Amino acid sequence: NNRIVLASRPVGAPVTDNFRLESQAVPALKDGELLLRTIYLSLDPYMRGRMSDAKSYADPVELNDVMVGATVCQVEDSLNPNFEKGEWVLAYTGWQSYAVSDGEGLLKLGKSPSHPSFALGIMGMPGFTAYMGLLDIGQPKEGDTLVVAAATGPVGATVGQIGKLKGCNVVGIAGGEEKCRHAVEVLGFDVCIDHKAEDFAEQLAAACDKGIDVYYENVGGKVFDAVMPLLNTGARIPVCGLISQYNATALPEGPDRMSLLMATLLIKRIKMQGFIIFDDYGHRYDEFAADMGKWLMEGKMQYKEQIVDSLDAAPEAFMGLLEGKNFGKLVVKIAEP
Ligand code: NDP
Repeated sequence: NNRIVLASRPVGAPVTDNFRLESQAVPALKDGELLLRTIYLSLDPYMRGRMSDAKSYADPVELNDVMVGATVCQVEDSLNPNFEKGEWVLAYTGWQSYAVSDGEGLLKLGKSPSHPSFALGIMGMPGFTAYMGLLDIGQPKEGDTLVVAAATGPVGATVGQIGKLKGCNVVGIAGGEEKCRHAVEVLGFDVCIDHKAEDFAEQLAAACDKGIDVYYENVGGKVFDAVMPLLNTGARIPVCGLISQYNATALPEGPDRMSLLMATLLIKRIKMQGFIIFDDYGHRYDEFAADMGKWLMEGKMQYKEQIVDSLDAAPEAFMGLLEGKNFGKLVVKIAEP
């Protein structure tokens, strides 16, 4: 069994030395257990938080423990009557090629799912996050202007497409021309603005000439600074992520804008609400799965994955995710099915 453990905690951006690749024997099974062979490993921004021991909504990974993560696995061997060899499951076995499970918490994906890796993206946690954050907190209405950054990632791309289904004017924000073109031409956003452009704030203001009704927050930082003055009275802000700050070691420099934010929330009666997807909405997963399954079947959702080969490529791919080097949902293919 090959696995990647947390070797040390990053200060600022993670570096290669924070990870260590190890090999171990695959453990023997006891009664009731099954051996899972990882086919796909999901890489997600929240993993940066787990590498730190700062207090958060979930416990950190301990030093020398395997890095956590959602996986799509095949049952390699089973001493558990509920699981058969060859069957596919969604699991949470982390950055490793094999894992032993007692069957608890596994979601069955069937004998030959058509797109098994979708369970890590559009049909899984990121898709669910987009759906609940936008529909439950964002409350988009026809004709609203909806703004979302990280627009080509699994959350942002899904937010914008659901926004279009609900009749919104959708303004994406992404890093670079290629991603912006994808958001408009493939995902069907009305416009997409490059946050690396020098006149980014001016371009955003021009694209949102009727103001912003829903800002789905994925990144924070200078993107939020540009959004704040454009917010309309009664705007809704689902606070989903703040990826521009995940590697920060101190508060941003410059004038303190807290009182400006508070005054904006007050005067414009804005609702700003954070959420942690499974903690807050786990009980509504079926609702999401039914709608998203239908939209996919009807061809109403486009979904882009970036598949990286082999476990040893995971650290570099993950470090790139925090810098916008990924294009689409980042998945590591650990083994051939
Ligand atoms: P993505 O695949 O979209 O990856 C992150 C993207 O963020 C990068 O590709 C990059 O896109 C963008 N980005 C990175 N750094 C910056 C920066 N400094 N400024 C602006 N953009 C930046 O990730 P996901 O779709 O998986 O996740 C999106 C957000 O949702 C994250 O903040 C994540 O933490 C959050 N999340 C929250 C959940 C919850 O329960 N609250 C659950 C799941 C995700 P680009 O090049 O386009 O800028």
